[in-house]
Amino acid sequence: MLMKTAREQIVSYGNRLIEDGLTVGTAGNISVYDPESGYMAISPSGIPYADTLPEDIVIMDLHGNILEGDRKPSSESALHSAFYLADIGAQAVVHAHSMYCTTLACMGEPLRSVHYAIAEAGTDILPLVPYHTFGTPELARAASEALKGGARGVILANHGMCASGSSLKSAYGLALTMEWCAEVQWRCMCAGKMNVLTKKEMDTALEHYKTYGQGKSDGSSVSGYNG
Ligand SMILES: [Zn+2]
Repeated sequence: MLMKTAREQIVSYGNRLIEDGLTVGTAGNISVYDPESGYMAISPSGIPYADTLPEDIVIMDLHGNILEGDRKPSSESALHSAFYLADIGAQAVVHAHSMYCTTLACMGEPLRSVHYAIAEAGTDILPLVPYHTFGTPELARAASEALKGGARGVILANHGMCASGSSLKSAYGLALTMEWCAEVQWRCMCAGKMNVLTKKEMDTALEHYKTYGQGKSDGSSVSGYNG
């Protein structure tokens, strides 16, 4: 069985997506990428997370070819591939329809630097990817464009969010941080007052993140907003 550990991680973090309230039903999907083999393990399409077994995970390459698995892969496999093909060191991607990121997505809002914790994503703004139908190459292409700025996460207009990392733990941690920051931003917008940090302030925060916690620069030591 290819990518056994990655399969088990995807099952485990899929259940956490539901437990942590980051998604409902079968929405969202998770993948892990092995740069050595060029293989991506991705959750199957339309199977509830609680019912997904390691053998249901599909192994693909980044060009849409299935290498191992009887299940239909997530309809967003091209979107996940876009992260691995971008120059951001991604080895795992979490895609979810989490409430507050999706609220911003439906307002046509990127995730702004209202709180410094967004620096965990490696940039001062998480771009809004223009709307395209879910599961299409157009959506994946639009995400590729948005990732050129170096952000490790994006907001997908009228759809949801994606977070990536050098490990699934890191990608999942960023997904939680993005959701928390999105709620803060939404609350500020509701209150009609929002002080966005300047580029200079965020550049300093980004520098600090490189040595924060146990000194990991991939954000994996950061659960966010606790600095
Ligand atoms: Zn989706």
